[in-house]
Formats: sequence, structure tokens, C-alpha cells
Amino acid sequence: MRQLEALVAQAQAAADGLPGASGEGRRGPAAADVDEVARQLQICNACRYCEGFCAVFPAMTRRLAFSPADVHYLANLCHNCGACLHACQYAPPHEFAVNVPQAMARVRVRTYEHFAWPEAFGSAYRRNGAVLALALAAGLALFLALAVALKGSAAALFTHPGAVSFYALFPHNLMVWMFAPVFAFALLALGLGVARFWREVTPGAAPPGQQGAAVAEAVHDVLRLKYLDGGHGEGCHNESDAWTQARRRFHHLTFYGFVLCFAATSIATVYHYGFGWVAPYAWTSLPKVLGTVGGLGLLAGPAGLWWLHRRRHAQHGVAAQRPMDLGFIALLFVVGLSGLALPLWRDTAALPLLLCAHLGAVMAFVATMPYGKFAHGVYRSAALLKWAIEKRQPSRLTLGSE
Ligand code: SF4
Ligand code: SF4
Repeated sequence: MRQLEALVAQAQAAADGLPGASGEGRRGPAAADVDEVARQLQICNACRYCEGFCAVFPAMTRRLAFSPADVHYLANLCHNCGACLHACQYAPPHEFAVNVPQAMARVRVRTYEHFAWPEAFGSAYRRNGAVLALALAAGLALFLALAVALKGSAAALFTHPGAVSFYALFPHNLMVWMFAPVFAFALLALGLGVARFWREVTPGAAPPGQQGAAVAEAVHDVLRLKYLDGGHGEGCHNESDAWTQARRRFHHLTFYGFVLCFAATSIATVYHYGFGWVAPYAWTSLPKVLGTVGGLGLLAGPAGLWWLHRRRHAQHGVAAQRPMDLGFIALLFVVGLSGLALPLWRDTAALPLLLCAHLGAVMAFVATMPYGKFAHGVYRSAALLKWAIEKRQPSRLTLGSE
């Protein structure tokens, strides 16, 4: 009873923005966010109504207390589906003020910031809308300036005859030398960041003979976005307590669109260096087919996610994170649109400007991969792998057996 009163007092303090909302010994906004998740999970651990919705709740029941590492792990395991908010009898305006998706969202972005490499770049998450806009502007300016330098004048860009290879404007090797270091840095930064996260959440190992099954399950859950199914297969929430599959479908279009575009670029690189087959390729060639289908996914997926995001229930997320979410969605859309426009308008004078727009957008995307919304896929995959391992380990709690 005393514990219940303490939780109510903490909820009241959190609602009032008082320092009492923060746990003992930890200060600062990040610590207060972690403490708030821990407070809510203690209520959930007593209630357990949402146990079947997603992996967060069964993972929660393996703990009695929630360290910052536990909270970082569970926040990234949460898919922000909204199910536990719409089902909760203790959601605001109840005095317990339980809103798990919102509290998790607040911590989740702080984990990206906390584990970012180099550390100084972590603050990019806080101003991500501006960072994306700047990166896009810088990418466009870079390729426009380069095109002017290579063609000898700006006027040459507007009087271009069209019907030439992209490489007549930007030589293939030059593009490789420009993109390869930025891409390698992005992979390194993301890899080091998620490695720090992995060390902190200490996943341990699945029992002998079950490691492969754990990895297979995690891959399956990532590729299917399993935890956007609401635990019953009918989907998650968006603007109301109605179930919808729309978020999952538009996520899939975006994700697989990106994967196909990446595959198209990779195969074209193999064609170029491995077989000496130089672009442009026929519409029926593998890079063109994959790139076109992927580009359509990158149009439909982000457009749908944008539409859903604008209608999203205000209590699901955190208003301050909207520029990061919407900026990322918009950038993916620009990458898809400019990529599809290129082959369609390649025989016109618009080709140089379109190519600059596409390469600038791709460069902005690659450069900001480790410091924006892209990171959520990487950290969530790591959290899902930890869960697939953890559920195969014996529980450390021996309640009821003593
Ligand atoms: S979110 Fe609410 S209903 Fe669900 S387990 Fe927590 S307290 Fe219970
Ligand atoms: S919002 Fe969805 S995924 Fe996140 S904890 Fe609640 S039910 Fe689980």
C-alpha cells in the first residue's frame, strides 16, 4: 500500500513537472525520463494486463526493478504500437498517468543520443529536423557546384542536350570516391553506437543449441515487424483505438523499397566492376527492375507514413520528435521521387539538375543515417535479438519456487 502511494506521488510529480519525478541519485532530463519509464513499468508489473501485446511485457516480467540499462533495452523493444495506451485503465487522466508508448519514445531517442559515436554528434538527434534540412541543402549545393565545375559554367547545366550517360556528368569513379567514405563512416558510426548499446544491455548467450533459433527468430520479427500486429494480428493503433494494418504496411513498403534500391545499386556496382557492363541498363535488367520497384516503394511507403503521422494520436509520441520523424520520411520520399524521375527524364535538358537533386538527397540520407530516425531500425533489431536470446534463458526470478 505504501508503495502504491509512492507511485501515485511520483505520477503526480511527473504530471506537475516537479523534481520528485526523478529517482534517487540520478538527475538531469535523461535520468528523469528513465525514471519515469521505471515508475510506469512497476505499475505494469503489478497489473500485467498487456502481457500478450508485444515482447516488452514478457521481458518486463523477468525483472522486479528497472536499471537504466533495462529501460534502454525495453524502450528499444517497444514498437510504439499504442496498444497498451488504448487498453490501459491507468492512462491519463488517471492519477497513475501510465502512458508506456510515450514514455518509451522519450527514452528511445535519448538512447540513440547516449550511444552515438562520436559522442559530440549525439546532439544531432535533438535538432534533427534542422540537421536534415542542412544536410539536404549541403548535398544539393555540393553536386551543383561540382557539376558547374565539371561542365565549365552554370549555363551548361541548363542547355544540356540530354540522352547521355549519368557518368558523362559525374564520372563513375568520382561518385564512388565521394560516396564510399561517407557510407563507410555512417556504417562505422552506427556499428560502434549499437555495439555500445549491446554491451550495456548485456544480452548474454542463448543456451547451447539454441543460438541459431534465437537469431532466426529475431530476423523474422524484424522483417515482419511482428510487434506492429497488436499481439492478435489485427494491427496497431494510429489516430484512435481502432486497429489498423496501415502503419505496418507503409513501414514495409518503405523498408523493402529501401532494400530493393540498395540491392539495385549493389548489383549495378558488380556489373560495372565485375563484368565491365556500364550503365545505362535496359528497363528489363535486374538493377533497373529492382530500382524501379524499390523506388515505387520509397514513394508509397513514406507518403503513407507521412499521412498517418499527421493524424497520429497525440499521446503516442513526443511532439519534439516530430521534426526528426517527418524530416526522415520526407527525405526518403525525395530520394525515391528523384531516383524514379531520372530514367524518365534522362533524354531531356532537365537531366543535370535532376541528377544533382538525386545525388544530393542520397548524400544527405547517407550522411545523416547514424544521427537520425534511421537508427531506430538498427537499435530495435538489436533489442529484438536480445529478447530472442533472453526468452531462451532461465528467468533470474524464482518467485513461487522458494
Ligand atoms: S499499460 Fe496499463 S493496462 Fe497495460 S499492463 Fe501497464 S498498467 Fe496494466
Ligand atoms: S506501445 Fe505497443 S510495442 Fe510499445 S510497449 Fe505498448 S504494446 Fe508494446
